[in-house]
Amino acid sequence: MKPDTKACASPVRKIWECHNDHPQPPSDFLPLEMVACPGRQCLGFGHHFRCGRPALGGDAVNEQVKIYCCGCSEKVEPRLTDGREIYPHRSDLAKLPFWKCDVCNNFVGCHHKTKNRTQPLGCIPTPEIKKARQHIHRILDPIWKSGRISRSDLYGHIAEATGRSSYHTANIRSVEEAREVFKIVREIGGQIA
Ligand SMILES: [Zn+2]
Repeated sequence: MKPDTKACASPVRKIWECHNDHPQPPSDFLPLEMVACPGRQCLGFGHHFRCGRPALGGDAVNEQVKIYCCGCSEKVEPRLTDGREIYPHRSDLAKLPFWKCDVCNNFVGCHHKTKNRTQPLGCIPTPEIKKARQHIHRILDPIWKSGRISRSDLYGHIAEATGRSSYHTANIRSVEEAREVFKIVREIGGQIA
């Protein structure tokens, strides 16, 4: 994909938008181009550099996006589709974007309320991993919503305890990882209760 240079011709306000807070974009980035996180510290998608204008979305990035697929245990090139295919009986979800792995048929939703509405929420989970993530959210969310600890502090603690630079529930790749996080969250919840 070629960057849309027209969109970037005006004063370029460069923003590095790594969701995992990694400070530096790659040196050879191009504005409006999807790029991988430097050093592959992240799980490999959605980190892009843009010029302050709305990021690319929709089919334009379809051939470029690679997402780790938990069902395939590797990065795949998923297909952008919508709720009509994923949830045919949910007309309320019909227009929402999803990335689907056509190898294993698993899928992931998108940050559809943001400017880059096709940015995947995380890696593509299997149904089992999706359930495990929901389970984690059920014990995780009440902890920071209680106000006893901020959400970012809580996530920071989990990242530290798992030996990673950051933590996102949507990036959990395996049931084992989910179990580990679950245990950590329960411990933190117990400590601050
Ligand atoms: Zn797959």
